[in-house]
Formats: sequence, structure tokens, C-alpha cells
Amino acid sequence: MTLPLSTFAFVDLETTGTRAAADRITEIGIVRVEIREDGAPQVTEWSTLVDPETPIPPAIQVLTGITDAMVAAAPAFSTIAGDVSQMLAGCVFVAHNARFDYGFLKHAFARLERPFTARVLCTVRLSRRLFPDVDGHGLDALIARHSLSVTDRHRALGDARAIWSFVQRLYGDFAREAVDDAIKRLLRIPSLPPQLPSDAIDVLPEAPGVYLFYGDNALPLYVGKSVNLRERVGAHFSQDWRSETDLRLSQEIRRIEFEETAGELGALLREAVLIKSRLPAYNRALRRKLEAGVLEIVDGLPRFVAAAGIDCARLSSSYGPFASRASARAALRELTARHRLCALRLRLERRAAGPCFARQLGRCDGVCVGAESPESHDRRVVEALAPLMIPRWPVAGAALVREHAPMGRTDVHLFRDWCWLGTPRDDGELASLVEAPQASAFDFEVTKLLVRRHRAGQLRLITPGAATQRRDAIEYC
Ligand SMILES: [Zn+2]
Repeated sequence: MTLPLSTFAFVDLETTGTRAAADRITEIGIVRVEIREDGAPQVTEWSTLVDPETPIPPAIQVLTGITDAMVAAAPAFSTIAGDVSQMLAGCVFVAHNARFDYGFLKHAFARLERPFTARVLCTVRLSRRLFPDVDGHGLDALIARHSLSVTDRHRALGDARAIWSFVQRLYGDFAREAVDDAIKRLLRIPSLPPQLPSDAIDVLPEAPGVYLFYGDNALPLYVGKSVNLRERVGAHFSQDWRSETDLRLSQEIRRIEFEETAGELGALLREAVLIKSRLPAYNRALRRKLEAGVLEIVDGLPRFVAAAGIDCARLSSSYGPFASRASARAALRELTARHRLCALRLRLERRAAGPCFARQLGRCDGVCVGAESPESHDRRVVEALAPLMIPRWPVAGAALVREHAPMGRTDVHLFRDWCWLGTPRDDGELASLVEAPQASAFDFEVTKLLVRRHRAGQLRLITPGAATQRRDAIEYC
């Protein structure tokens, strides 16, 4: 495996409380990982109890298992500060809820008047970025979802090892570039390419729309979208370790163009059109769209269907949508753990025969060893999946969604079965779209946004008949 930077310190602390300025450290665990030339990780573990020089509250003693008696003979932080800073030297500081651990160490060093700074990577944020569809990014949720084997949970070294296993698991489940890219994005710091005017970002509106990066040619290098153009464009140039794409973009970019849209839907639909028609050299959005998909029940069990194989008319009987196969599997793993389902039967675990891993811990109802019938298990799978079901398209046929920006433009888009048919600019275009709709293709972001709005009661669909009869129901931009 390779990581975008060469040395990482996975850190976990146990403390006497949650306030970095007032509470003290009772234990430090560090897993230092150096990536060698050949890509193999060289791992050094280091851990010590720390005398907090103050009593540990009883509730915390119960949670961590670290008692006053255990730390009485341990060194104070001042004694080990040198070792800690040596272990962390030159490393990206990685922790779960990193602000907590980093804050405690910063305060501990500050009390000794020693400076301490590091680039910080938070694995909660990393998990959120890579698994936007799942709920729960606490360490216990991660351990369950990714079936991480963990010993000494709530002890510093045990938890530091758990987050290191989590990152290793990510490199197993995703393409390497996807994980590298997520890490780089979380490690960002600002710097604008020198050939752009210094106000290139400031002139962009804080509004939804699409942006186009141009080099010396007439065709754009890159097309992107955002609900906040200024913030998103800034993010391309504000990364400490940029993706290779952003690095090349910042060398080649000469000017930025943008188009405002009335809302988020308009922005993502316009982006899709521009990417298809202008084929910008550096876009990966098309590939990303192809990786998305849904789960369908085939022969009683959920199966991932990638974007290209999705029939929009059948979306309503499937589950998701998911950004990727890995994301769908993570959601399934979580349901499996919560509902005592079988990872073996769901093909989340590779073994020839039962019992599955969870059954050995008494956490699977046992279809893998004949203790539950396959029919009963599969019925429970369908029940467990129910909250993820894509709802039925609420109207018969196609319908319009109107997006209106406060004080600004209005866009009208035509959809059917959670998929986009077109964006008419007048009644004539609307009529021809309704009579002869283009083949609608599944788009992860479009479906996800429409379903989210529908669930929140914020999707107002106007049927085209009603729109043409009541002229006030529809305004075009
Ligand atoms: Zn099982």
C-alpha cells in the first residue's frame, strides 16, 4: 500500500475528562507507520501510562479501565515529552476526533513551554467523506461496519491500532487514488496559483452554479459544480497535498468562467451536460458517476447494480442510491451487524463454509450453520433494507421541478422516475420534451437529491398539464 505522504502517527489518548485545557492525559498510544520505498509499511508501536498528577473521576476509571493505582507509578508527561515528540516528528497526526487528541497534546506541551504543531488528519472526517451514505462515524460504528478486529478497546494503543486498521481497510475496499485523494483534501491549506489574478476567487458569487477552468485552449480543462461557487473553486487551490489533477490544474489554469444556476439541481444538471459536451481533459466526474449504483434484490438477496445497468423505471423497487460498490457494502455490513444477519450469506465475507465470523461471537442468528432457514434470513434482509428503499415516483409520468433563487433566476427541470428528462426554456420546448422525452439515464447525484427532498417534504412536483393550463404555475428563466 502507499499513502500520499510517507509517515503517519495514529494516535489515541486516554484522559481524565474532555476539556483539553483543564483535564490531563492518563495514557498515550502511538502507531507510527512509515511507508518504505517498496510501498510496505514499517510499523512501530509505542504506549505508556501517564501520571495525570490529579485524581481520575470514577466514571472515567470505569470507561477506560485505567485507575489511580495504575498511574501512580507511571511517568508524568514532562518525563516522556521528549519521547512523544520524537515519535511524532515529521508525521501526519492521525486520530479519531483528531481535534480532541491534538488539543490535549498541544496543551500538555504548552504547559512545558514546548512548541508542538503537526498536520492533522481526522478519521471521523475521512469516514464521512468516503461513506457519505451511512450514519454513525464513531469508533464503535467503524469497528462494526468494517469488521475490524480490535483488542483493548478504550485503551490508547488498542484504539490507535483500530484507526490504523480502519485506514488499511479503506485501501482494501477502495481504489488507492480515491483514498489518497480524500486524505489530501482533508489536509488542505490555501495557496492560489500565481498566474491567476489575486482576486480570482473573491469575484465568484457565493451562489449555486458551474465553473469552468481554462488553460490556453478554447476547451475547458475542468468543469465543476457547487452550491457555493466561491468556496468550491477556492478548495481546488487550498490543499496542502493536492491530487495530481489539482496540481496540474493549478499549473495550467489561466482563467475561470462560471454560470450561476437557480439552485443545486440546476448546478448538477448543467455540470453533467457540460462534461458530456465539452469533455474537459481533467474531469473524473463521468467515471465517478459510473461507479455509483443501487442494491436490487435478486434471487432473494441484495445485489449491487452499477449506474450503466440501471433501468430508471425500476429504481423505485431498489435501495440506495450509493456512491460506489464499497459504500453499498459498508451500508450492508452495518445492517448485518445491527440485525444479526449473516455476512457469509450476504457474501460480505469470503469463506467456504459457516460459521461466519459473527456467529462465532454469537452475533449472527445462524443461517450459516442451519440455525435459521434461508427464507427467514432473507426476509429479515429485506426488512432491514426497508429504510433505504427508493420511494415510488409520486406522480404518473413526468413532472417539473422549479428552482428559484431568492432575488434571482428561476430554472425549470423535467423529471420522471427520479431521473432527468430535460430543462425546457419555454412551453414549446416543454411540449416537445413531454411528447418525445430523451432517454433518461440514472445519475446518482440527481436521484439522491430528489429523494432527499421528497423525504423531507420539500419536493414540489408540477405536472406539465397543470403547468400549461395555469400560466402562473411556471415561469422560465
Ligand atoms: Zn452467519
